[in-house]
Amino acid sequence: MDDNRQPVSRTLQGIGVSPGIAAARVLVMKRHAWRAGWRHLPDDHVEKEVERFLLAIRTAGAELAQLREKLAADLADALSIIDSHLLMLKDKMIIERTVAIIRRNSVNAEWALAQALSEIKERFEQIDDRYIRERYADIKHVADRVFGLLTGREHDGLGGDDLPVILVANDFSPEDALRMQAGNVLGFLTEKGGVTSHTAIVARSLNIPAVVGLEHATSILATGDLIILDGRTGQVTLHPEPSEIRRRQEGNRRNHAKADDLDRYIHLASETEDGYVVRLSANIEMRQELPAVLRYGSEGIGLFRSEFDYFQGQEPPSEEQLLATYRQLLETMAPHPVTVRTLDVGGDKFLHSFPGNGAWLDQERNPALGLRSIRFSLYERDLFRIQLRALLRASVYGRLRILLPLVSALNEVRQAKAVIAGVMEQLAEESTPFAANVEIGMMVEVPSAVVMADVFAREVDFFAIGTNDLIQYSLAIDRGNQYVAHLYEPFHPAVLRMIRQTVEAGHASNIPVSLCGEMAGDGLCAPVLMGLGLDELSMRPAVIPRIKRMLRHSRSNELRNLARQTLECEDSERVREFLAATLPHFYPKDFYQS
Ligand code: PEP
Ligand code: MG
Repeated sequence: MDDNRQPVSRTLQGIGVSPGIAAARVLVMKRHAWRAGWRHLPDDHVEKEVERFLLAIRTAGAELAQLREKLAADLADALSIIDSHLLMLKDKMIIERTVAIIRRNSVNAEWALAQALSEIKERFEQIDDRYIRERYADIKHVADRVFGLLTGREHDGLGGDDLPVILVANDFSPEDALRMQAGNVLGFLTEKGGVTSHTAIVARSLNIPAVVGLEHATSILATGDLIILDGRTGQVTLHPEPSEIRRRQEGNRRNHAKADDLDRYIHLASETEDGYVVRLSANIEMRQELPAVLRYGSEGIGLFRSEFDYFQGQEPPSEEQLLATYRQLLETMAPHPVTVRTLDVGGDKFLHSFPGNGAWLDQERNPALGLRSIRFSLYERDLFRIQLRALLRASVYGRLRILLPLVSALNEVRQAKAVIAGVMEQLAEESTPFAANVEIGMMVEVPSAVVMADVFAREVDFFAIGTNDLIQYSLAIDRGNQYVAHLYEPFHPAVLRMIRQTVEAGHASNIPVSLCGEMAGDGLCAPVLMGLGLDELSMRPAVIPRIKRMLRHSRSNELRNLARQTLECEDSERVREFLAATLPHFYPKDFYQS
């Protein structure tokens, strides 16, 4: 066989979750679950196994030292984390204990390391001092790295490489996606995931082209393969011809040019031809996104996913750090409102650096139904109070709205409000200023909250409908599972009715209702949502001009009619057929098609 022949080009289909074309070689990251197979070693292999383990420790140290050198000196936080990990690599608990287990039991290093780690974990769990207890997370990070080296993974670190690459893995956490921003990563591809998984949401925020749900991607692709990844269509072309790369990049440039045409909508009011106003605001995860919020003419922040600040370091952020973030958001956006959602962890957003190292979260069988969001804050009240103190202290710098996530029972709102009142009292006693008129709202993203919306509406100042979760919980579809991604359907009549019910209940109590799930920024869904009477749609900043263009080319009675007829459809297929037949009468195709 001729080894020099050109590999044959082929196309693979995944789910496009973050638009853009990336053409580059891939870096396949084989993550290793901590499932260390047990191997008994003949006596004369034991010392070789010890040496293999010590080599992995030395290699991990060299990699970390290299990464440390590459990081800019101003990344002080990252440097100190690496330093602490370098120290861990000298830690007796890991090294001596693992070596002892290899020798005593004549077993392979992976199994011995897993064993040593579980002993260490047990010991840490018994420590009273929370700070010391939390150090287990560092040990685990370092052990992960060593374990990866032992099991022969090709790479594990993000951002340590010089060449631009497309990363490929079974899955990435939202944290991983955040770190890609700092590295030379042009795009990513995963085997797991869905459009509204948080990793996908972060990719869109950072404009990193991404495709998820491509089964067996880590086996089909090998590090070094050249691919074109299309984050809009979900197509991945393996071994593309050079002419194909040029053609796709040209297409990308044309899309950018189209986006420029939309710029003229940025400074226009977000209202229909007949003056019906729908506020268009931004969903963001990091304050670094503020320039994009301003650039695309957002009228406020409809959702700040505050949990992403908690992903950055080994420790939860301090009150002062949080205050700095919230103050910047409020000052930048004033007089527009800034809606900060309190910590929404759990589900697909794990925190590794949390009280007890998120140990119970790791153990939850059903994290989407577990200690998530407001439940977590009410369980970890000290942490909740720190966030609330920062929020209230920041409230004097603009118009703050506090949003409580995943509320499912009235009692949760009442308890949360009591904690907020307690924090206000404390601040007043200290003579620390805060705004008296901070609005407190709740996410409506669980069916029980919809059913009881009339009761909740008397208890809060505003509703924010979170359709990403509402769809997940009402249709019983895991939002991050590629096998059921095709069933994840915003146009399911049950979802549309729930939105209508929530809007009606909110308006009956004179409170505004916004919607901040991904469907708010979808050109097909947006006119239906406008017609359903939502006061505000909140979306990633870059799509605001496009949705505003639709709104400005609509009339309010037409939108209401459209929504009414959509609600008459008995299933989502009918809804899509109806919209496909009707929308062309109102808008050119590229207004609503992505
Ligand atoms: C939602 O659930 O729709 C939402 C906006 O919140 P998140 O995507 O962060 O769960
Ligand atoms: Mg949600």
